[in-house]
Amino acid sequence: MPTLINVCGASRSGTTMLDVMLGNGQSAFSCGEVYAWFRPWRTHHRKIRCACGSDPCPVWEKIAYVPEARFHRTVCDRLNVDFVIDSSKYMPWLIDTQSWAEKSGISVFNVLIYKPPIELAYSQFKRGRDPLGWRDDFVKYHGRLLRLGFPFSAVSYRELVRSPAKILGDICSRIGMHYVSGQEMAARVQSHHVFGSFGVRQQLDGGELRIRAEPEFSDDFERVRETIQARIDRDSEVCDIVDELERRSVGRRPGERTSTQFRRPLVMPAWYHVSRLKGAVRRVFPQDFAAPESSTEWERRS
Ligand SMILES: [Zn+2]
Repeated sequence: MPTLINVCGASRSGTTMLDVMLGNGQSAFSCGEVYAWFRPWRTHHRKIRCACGSDPCPVWEKIAYVPEARFHRTVCDRLNVDFVIDSSKYMPWLIDTQSWAEKSGISVFNVLIYKPPIELAYSQFKRGRDPLGWRDDFVKYHGRLLRLGFPFSAVSYRELVRSPAKILGDICSRIGMHYVSGQEMAARVQSHHVFGSFGVRQQLDGGELRIRAEPEFSDDFERVRETIQARIDRDSEVCDIVDELERRSVGRRPGERTSTQFRRPLVMPAWYHVSRLKGAVRRVFPQDFAAPESSTEWERRS
């Protein structure tokens, strides 16, 4: 049975990188943040701008013009692949893909990538922002998925960049994808990514995915690190989420195939409907394209 792999995560967690690594696999197609095509919220989403550089892209010509509910199945059928990788992080889309997959006879594996809080704090700190500025997005994104009983396995970004072959191998064994040596590094296949992280797309332009290990913390940060860590440790909501993410880490229980069946509640939470409504309005009145950024910025406004 073909498999849809949803790569999800909060803003700037490395989703595009993991998406591309999986898309390098055999019989796989990585489509990027495709929800922006079907549910556009910025003016530039109305046109496919494919990473391959062709305009129009002959591959997207075959798959783009179908109803959204048939998209993933169409990719598998028309491109003759067993795995379709989607890194749309927008939660209503992520949730809707579960029932589309079930109805169109494909299985689903959801993998969530996350950065440990102290690294999120460092990212903020080195940009001169509040070191705890990530907190609300982090709690909102993960808290909503967990409360919904959304099934997913987790991957720590740090572990992925430290041991990419091992972690990717673990994920592949869970989804039944044959791991190809070096799959995490070289662009084995022509990428037809759309939208997603601009930085990773720039790296792809060189034909190779260069994994940048997270730098050690600066001396400035080291001086305040303990204080920040203490504040994180006192935040029970954040700690509970991190504990749950670690419990679900692929490295913890390699080879185990977790249940991927999502039982959609009869009544979806209010944020789902609000988010869909805002999306519908934005579709009619899209924003102008301002600067390259991950489309998960949308999550902050939802
Ligand atoms: Zn293309």
